[in-house]
Amino acid sequence: MTAPVLQVEKLIKHFPVVRGVLRHTVGQIKAVDGVSFDLRAGETLCLVGESGCGKSTVGRTLVKLMQPTAGRIVLAGVDVTHLDDTAMRPHRRRIQMVFQDPYASLNPRLTAGEIVGEPLENYEALAGAAKDEKVAALLEKVGLRAEAMVKYPFEFSGGQRQRLGLARALALRPAVIVADEPVSALDVSVQAQVINLMMDLQEEFNLAYLFISHDLGVVEHIGHRIAVMYLGRIVELADKEALFAKPLHPYAEALIAAAPIADPRARRDQLVIEGDVPSPMNPPSGCHFHTRCPYAVARCRVEDPPLREVAPERWVSCHLREPAAPAAAI
Ligand code: SF4
Repeated sequence: MTAPVLQVEKLIKHFPVVRGVLRHTVGQIKAVDGVSFDLRAGETLCLVGESGCGKSTVGRTLVKLMQPTAGRIVLAGVDVTHLDDTAMRPHRRRIQMVFQDPYASLNPRLTAGEIVGEPLENYEALAGAAKDEKVAALLEKVGLRAEAMVKYPFEFSGGQRQRLGLARALALRPAVIVADEPVSALDVSVQAQVINLMMDLQEEFNLAYLFISHDLGVVEHIGHRIAVMYLGRIVELADKEALFAKPLHPYAEALIAAAPIADPRARRDQLVIEGDVPSPMNPPSGCHFHTRCPYAVARCRVEDPPLREVAPERWVSCHLREPAAPAAAI
C-alpha cells in the first residue's frame, strides 16, 4: 500500500465565542474536535454529515485557510501544521481546494485565462505565450474550449464555472484536492458530468480527493472510503461498500436509511433520528450522540466511546461496537 499523501491526526479547530464590550471569551465552538484520517494517492475519501457537523471546517483547515487549534497535518511527508503563509507557500501547490459556489469563488473581474493562469504566474513565473499555452491545455482538460480564455465568469454556466474552478485547482499539479460540496449548487444532470470529469482527472493524475458532501447519492458514486461526521468528530470510517451494506454506527445507519434510492423496489430498514443536533458549544456528555440515539444505554451518557478499529479498515465510535476481546490462551 502506498504512503498516504495526507495524514491528519487529532485535528482540532475551536472558535472562541466573545461577549460584551471587553470581548471576554465565554466559550468555545468545537467545530472540529479530534479528527484523524489518512488519504492515499488516487483515492477519494468522502466526509459526510449534516450541515454544521464540521466537515467544511476540516477542509478549510487542511488547506490552511484557517489555522488549526491543535493536532497535526502532514502533507506529502511534511508537517505543515504550524507553517505560516510564507513557509506554507512551497507546499500550498500540493493541496488545492474547489469550492461549493463556483461563481463566488471566481474573481468576476478576471477572465478565465487570468483565473487559471494566476497560480502559474505566481508559482511557476510563467508569462506570455508559455502561460497561455498551458492555460489552454488546462481548459481543454476540463472540457472547455481554449477560446473561452477571454470570457468572464458570468459568461459561463454553473457547470462550466465549476470546470473552471477545477482547471485552476489542477494548474499546479496538486497531490490532493479538497472539494467542498463541489456539485451541490448544480442541476442534477450537470452534477453527473462534473463528477465524471473529477473521476477521469483522478485517474489521469492519480489525484487524492477529500470530497465533502451531505449528498449520499453523490458520495456513493464517487467515494472509495467514507467518514461520517457528527458534532465535529468522525463516528464511522469505512470502505464505501461496507458502509452502505451495513453501517455500524447508529448515526451512519440513520443517514443511509434516509438517503434516497434509485430503485423504489429496494427497501432500506428505516432508522429515524429525532431531535436537533446539539450545540457544538456545549456538546452532550459521554457519547455526543446519546441525546438522539435510539440504542443509548446508561453508559453512553457518561463514557465517551473512542474511534476504534472494529474490523480491518473499519473504524467506529460506539460502545455497542467494541472489538471482540482476543481469545484467552489455553
Ligand atoms: Fe448510541 Fe451509545 Fe453507541 Fe453513542 S455509544 S452511538 S449513544 S449506542
